[in-house]
Amino acid sequence: METNNTIQQEPVFDIIIAGAGCAGLSLLYGLITESKLSQLRVLVIDKALEKSNDRTWCFWETEKGPFESIICKQWDAITVHKNSFSRQLTTTPYTYKMIQGLDFYNFVIMEAKKFSNIFWQEAAITNIETLNNNAIVYWEGGSAKASKVFSSILPIDSLYTISQSTNTKPFLWQHFKGLLVEFEQPVFDAHIATLMDFNVDQKGATAFMYLLPLDNKKALVEYTLFSKSLLKPNDYDAELSSYLKKHYANAAYEILHNEIGAIPMTTQSFAKSDAPVYVIGTLGNAVKSSTGYAFHFIQEQVKLIVKNLVQNNPIKTEIHNTRHQFYDAVLLYILDHQLMEGSEIFKRIFQKNRAATIFKFLSNTSTLMEDIRIMRSLPTSIFLPAAIKVLLRRS
Ligand SMILES: Cc1cc2nc3c(=O)[nH]c(=O)nc-3n(C[C@H](O)[C@H](O)[C@H](O)COP(=O)(O)OP(=O)(O)OC[C@H]3O[C@@H](n4cnc5c(N)ncnc54)[C@H](O)[C@@H]3O)c2cc1C
Repeated sequence: METNNTIQQEPVFDIIIAGAGCAGLSLLYGLITESKLSQLRVLVIDKALEKSNDRTWCFWETEKGPFESIICKQWDAITVHKNSFSRQLTTTPYTYKMIQGLDFYNFVIMEAKKFSNIFWQEAAITNIETLNNNAIVYWEGGSAKASKVFSSILPIDSLYTISQSTNTKPFLWQHFKGLLVEFEQPVFDAHIATLMDFNVDQKGATAFMYLLPLDNKKALVEYTLFSKSLLKPNDYDAELSSYLKKHYANAAYEILHNEIGAIPMTTQSFAKSDAPVYVIGTLGNAVKSSTGYAFHFIQEQVKLIVKNLVQNNPIKTEIHNTRHQFYDAVLLYILDHQLMEGSEIFKRIFQKNRAATIFKFLSNTSTLMEDIRIMRSLPTSIFLPAAIKVLLRRS
């Protein structure tokens, strides 16, 4: 990447953003679009500033968001399938939206390059230390100081270690391989996103196909699992191939792109914000532990940080409220202990509720009455003892 400013010696910044992925760049965008903060001297460090289209983000919202101009596709209808159960739900007032990773990276970087007070460093960070209310960020051959550091650097290897540990909190992976496929003939209804099709090999866990049509020939199709360990790459491919063959009558298709990912699903905290070093994104526990969705929560985290900075208040990065975290913990406990099939849990929720209520619940914004409505879809005989177990473990 061409950088507009490259640092010469160890300078002092107002803010260092350590990690320029979803959270780091979302924060950067939040800073440059807030007039009271846009003059701050900010250093952005990432081990790879040359970005690739490494992921696709989906999320839902009722209004137009800050990244509306780069939304590549949106849907107002979703479907869920399990055996003979099939339900199409309208998402109104929410819209389910998709952003390509590369569009997001390019958009924020291009906007930030208009500011001469934003500096860039391509380097692998080796350490972050606190010294006299400042933080010093080190990389091989250099370092920089700032009064605040926002870090999202989380080595995936350390996550694998945490996932294997004997900690009492459940830890599952949401892991998947996705293919962007293009058929020669129209085969998709481009207006409907398949959120979960459980009619796939469950592999002893919770597994579903997620199919997002971009037009009537092209779709992103992802074989997704919630389980303790990952599959071999060929296992995802085999399931994707058999699904496409089965549903589209052996029609020919071309694979245009693929993405592979593993998102931690756990109520374990990876790190805590401790002034002057604040954690954001996955490292900052922004991932919703029961679903793996993080994009929306990262935007909420950024809003909170920007507000605290503008008001000169202590900076908070925790965005999941206790009540919804408790629900997440109960669901994870049930999945982790295999007390009920995940496919059956999600089927019942989607069978008995409006998509809007479910989206609200999963966005942590539902009322207690709405929570009760969702919970009534589920068997008390399983969920109540699990809730008690989770409560006892907390105390
Ligand atoms: C393939 C995939 C698809 C996803 N899809 C969705 C979705 O549809 N909806 C949703 O809500 N969530 C989704 N997620 C989950 C979540 O939104 C993303 O993982 C999101 O990118 C997390 O943001 P982050 O900033 O914490 O991490 P990242 O985006 O991974 O950013 C971390 C950055 O830190 C840098 N870095 C790491 N170590 C160092 C180091 N030592 N020194 C310097 N830089 C370093 C990396 O290069 C990277 O740029 C998806 C995740 C994946 C992997």
